[in-house]
Amino acid sequence: MSGLTPDRLSLNTATLREQWNLAQCIEGCARHGFGGIAPWRDKLQEMGVSQAARAIRDAGLRVSGLCRGGWFTASGAVDQAVIDDNRRAVDEALEIGAECLVMVVGGLPTASRDLPAAWKLVEEGLARTLDYGRETGMKIAIEPLHPMYAGDRACVNTMRQALDICDRLGPGIGCAVDVYHVWWDHELAGQIARAGKDRVMAFHICDWLVPTRDLLTDRGMMGDGVIDIPYLRGLVEAEGFDGLNEVEIFSALDWWTRDPDEVMQTIIERARTVC
Ligand code: ZN
Repeated sequence: MSGLTPDRLSLNTATLREQWNLAQCIEGCARHGFGGIAPWRDKLQEMGVSQAARAIRDAGLRVSGLCRGGWFTASGAVDQAVIDDNRRAVDEALEIGAECLVMVVGGLPTASRDLPAAWKLVEEGLARTLDYGRETGMKIAIEPLHPMYAGDRACVNTMRQALDICDRLGPGIGCAVDVYHVWWDHELAGQIARAGKDRVMAFHICDWLVPTRDLLTDRGMMGDGVIDIPYLRGLVEAEGFDGLNEVEIFSALDWWTRDPDEVMQTIIERARTVC
């Protein structure tokens, strides 16, 4: 089932984080025929949200998601500053026409060993952000992260756990399915079916290298690792997902050191042959 054309791809700007600013990412996506882009907030704010919104619109790109809201747990309480920052993230997502706001929910609070307490904070933070998302019409997408990040980045680690939260919170919230985080899960097929079209809000692709040399910054280019990407794409498409395939590769040792146009060309080639 391979054969993705560039118009079905979105560039997550983390993929070229070290090489391009957002303006260059927008121009590069347009020049290489990508269908969309997914900015990170630091790059968005650096360019200026309204200027970025205009450039993205002028380039004819979709925005498959804004990365990222969340981080509800750090201080051990969901304080107003965290909620305000998430509301700003919703506003930014609206301004650039993002299809969802991606949430990385946060790991354990500093010096805490109380995982259930962290889960409670996350659900409270998500509920409060979702209220604003519903008010404004922005979808909220929980990105379950691989369990190796439960301590420091996200204590929502499987699709089942994310969908249990979605069930409790109701409409307007779903999942960002990132193959890097969920490929190993024996329940994945069933949980994607459970999510259905409305709750699969984004699909992120890269590959899992064996061995992985760094827990955060050693993701692989599609085709260089062990993830069966066509199979996973088939699962989300079977539910009716018709969004873009967002390429998100953190790669300090390899792709961040390369010429950005070479990276873009490689993505296009791999999308055609192995995705
Ligand atoms: Zn992702």
